[in-house]
Amino acid sequence: MDDFVIMGLVMQEIEYGESDRILKILTAEKGLITAFAKHSMRLTNHLFAACGQLCYSEFVLRPGRNTEDKMYTVVEAGYETDFRDISYSLEAQGVAMYMLEFTMALSLVEQPAEKELKLLMNCLYKLCKKTDPKIVKAVFELRMTCECGFMPQLLACRECGAYDGERFCLDIEDGCLLCADCAARENRTCNLDRGALFAVRYICLSEDKKLFGFRVSDESAQLLFAVAEQYALAHMDKQLNSLQFLRSLSAWDPDQQPKKD
Ligand SMILES: [Zn+2]
Repeated sequence: MDDFVIMGLVMQEIEYGESDRILKILTAEKGLITAFAKHSMRLTNHLFAACGQLCYSEFVLRPGRNTEDKMYTVVEAGYETDFRDISYSLEAQGVAMYMLEFTMALSLVEQPAEKELKLLMNCLYKLCKKTDPKIVKAVFELRMTCECGFMPQLLACRECGAYDGERFCLDIEDGCLLCADCAARENRTCNLDRGALFAVRYICLSEDKKLFGFRVSDESAQLLFAVAEQYALAHMDKQLNSLQFLRSLSAWDPDQQPKKD
């Protein structure tokens, strides 16, 4: 196979030896790929600027010599843009690392990942523009879980067809909706109010470019955040270390302490 050109987002850089890096790169055409960037840690190296984590770059890659060799070699790399403006807040950095780890945990190796890449970059962009990291995280979790084929059934109550109401229960495992009456009959606790359900519907069903075009009250937002995380993790079969970091951040944030009754 010959060298080829591909655009990709550097998800992870692993230092190797004195000055080399092994990169995990997310591309639209080939999903998650691994590439070896020789001497790219050297400041004067032509690969240096384009191979850092959160860089979106144009790569010239050379396939391995045999077909089992899944490691490419970076021949050339041109910096296009990056998503490093997240350094203004620990929480934004934590959410960015969580989204990268979440995406890498999906089965995207060597298969098209156009939607996943687009969503991840859109969310990273919003973080750079200082959209509330908790909103970005919730949008990412719900939308990515939908992209993976787990779109919740959000139209109406599964049992009675009620569309509207003050309280609803989204079944985290099945992704179906129950109104307050039907939830009570099944001894289920409601986890969404009207505003949170509106936001969940909006995030799961809107066009890509309008993904962040919703408003949610502070109270409903708390419900949205909890449901988005629970729903995403229920459909993710791996432990995510970055989530522990995010939780340690909220542990010292008094506003985020769970209320004791
Ligand atoms: Zn019902």
